[in-house]
Amino acid sequence: MIVIGGGLAGLAAGVALAESGWRVRLFEQRPFLGGRATSYVLPDGEHVDNCQHVTLGCCTNLEDFYRRIGAAGKIKFFDRLLFLDPQGRRGKMQAGFLPAPFHLTGSFAAFAPLSLLDKLSIARAMLDILQTQGNPADLQEKGGISMLEWLRRRGQTKRAIERFWRVVLVSALDEELDRTDARFGVDVFWKVFLSNSTGYRMGVPAVPLANLYDGCKSEIERRGGEVVLRAPVRGLKMESGELAGIRLDEGREETADAYVFAVPHAVLAELLPQSMKQSDPALSNLEKIKVAPITGVHFWFDRTVMKEPFVTLLDTTTQWIFNKTALYGDSNGQALTGQYLQLVISASYDLLQKPRQEIIDLCLEEVRKALPAARNAELVKATVIKEAAATFSPEPGVDRWRPRQQTSIPRLFLAGDWTDTGWPATMEGAVRSGYLAAEALLRSDGTPLKFLQPDLPPDGFIAMWVGKHTALVDSPDVSRQSTRALIGLRKDGEKSLDSETYVRELRKGDRLRRFGS
Ligand SMILES: Cc1cc2nc3c(=O)[nH]c(=O)nc-3n(C[C@H](O)[C@H](O)[C@H](O)COP(=O)(O)OP(=O)(O)OC[C@H]3O[C@@H](n4cnc5c(N)ncnc54)[C@H](O)[C@@H]3O)c2cc1C
Repeated sequence: MIVIGGGLAGLAAGVALAESGWRVRLFEQRPFLGGRATSYVLPDGEHVDNCQHVTLGCCTNLEDFYRRIGAAGKIKFFDRLLFLDPQGRRGKMQAGFLPAPFHLTGSFAAFAPLSLLDKLSIARAMLDILQTQGNPADLQEKGGISMLEWLRRRGQTKRAIERFWRVVLVSALDEELDRTDARFGVDVFWKVFLSNSTGYRMGVPAVPLANLYDGCKSEIERRGGEVVLRAPVRGLKMESGELAGIRLDEGREETADAYVFAVPHAVLAELLPQSMKQSDPALSNLEKIKVAPITGVHFWFDRTVMKEPFVTLLDTTTQWIFNKTALYGDSNGQALTGQYLQLVISASYDLLQKPRQEIIDLCLEEVRKALPAARNAELVKATVIKEAAATFSPEPGVDRWRPRQQTSIPRLFLAGDWTDTGWPATMEGAVRSGYLAAEALLRSDGTPLKFLQPDLPPDGFIAMWVGKHTALVDSPDVSRQSTRALIGLRKDGEKSLDSETYVRELRKGDRLRRFGS
């Protein structure tokens, strides 16, 4: 079989299929693997990531993938997130001794950049997410609603929106709140902060990103396949209206029993012939998926200016500062003089047209304000990497344009963070799509296998609460009457539950599955 594209989606599909006994040939247009989540070497020998990439404890499939390819040991996990506001106030998120969903309550209560009023409004919205297990009723509105609208309906203060919801979600979803489907935003809080006490832990690669994928090539080759770099696929070969192969440069053609296209959606839209788009309506909407930018700014100082591994800045253009020198240790093979910082700005629409020097000046001023030690340090060099199409935009209703991994075209399968995974554009979403494509291919071959990993199981009080629902809801005689009784019981025994929401949700078939999962 052939995989086109050596990003995380293509690599996950390729490795899974190679492990299942298929001979995998993977064609990647660039001279290195990893797609958007990669790194390269500057002319002066410096390794730079395309942009800092982080994972979270709740990214179970990415973790599984790293384990499969022997890269799990190259990710450092941190359980403390540090926030700095322009007034120099610090806030942190760190699990305390309480079980989920209260594990972050202590650090949240002491979070200096927010007032009591802000915190109360956030707590109210969190309670709503908790009570509905991440599925508030208004998320089902036709066409979706924006995260900003969802927050407004819950009376969030301006500062809570700017210094809490926006800070977390713009980084996680690469989009502004008014352009983000609330379904994704709520899901982040349910999976990352509420349902499991380790979901929020942040994993940062301790090596340049490209070094994570050495195991993919060897795994595919060890099982008789090959990974071909500098091999752009230029088109599809059609015979009698059917997919019969791929066309590469210099008239080269390759054929296989099955094809997984793991390229960005805009590339696929160009590669697919019109006839295919017409025969599978799911393939005719790719152009409707919009994209969002991320800008990375890299600073090299002549001395140490920061001790923390990373910090989040509030109320500034710069959103995150990563201390690459500390994160790499000596694994980069570079002399440990000075300090290398990497800044990340998601949904960076305002920066796209700005000259690079202007971005450097703006960010340098913010870094010097946030890190006093940087004020006297010399900036030795700096670079800016603008990714205009960093991720697909999670705008309200986008899911209806995302095709499944199994198409109606024989032998054609799709992978990519933009395919239908339920997840936003993340490394986790990309790996999920690759696993789903591999599962679909094996299913159609009559040799089904499972690769997709389950979400982190709820723990602490959430586990008890979900367990109680599962037992009650799964029982065959759950009628509306017993539902009322159940609500009464919950209202008395465990504080509030919006009874109407609960009845409405309970009547939906898929709710039963959710409770049981
Ligand atoms: C700046 C930036 C920061 C990000 N930060 C994070 C983060 O912190 N955490 C996180 O989880 N996610 C992050 N992401 C998102 C993450 O990188 C992506 O979701 C993920 O890497 C997508 O993987 P993919 O395989 O679906 O697509 P891609 O990585 O785009 O892979 C597609 C591959 O196809 C190849 N290709 C394209 N056309 C052809 C062709 N014609 N022939 C052959 N090959 C072709 C490309 O070269 C590429 O290697 C970030 C993305 C960017 C850009």
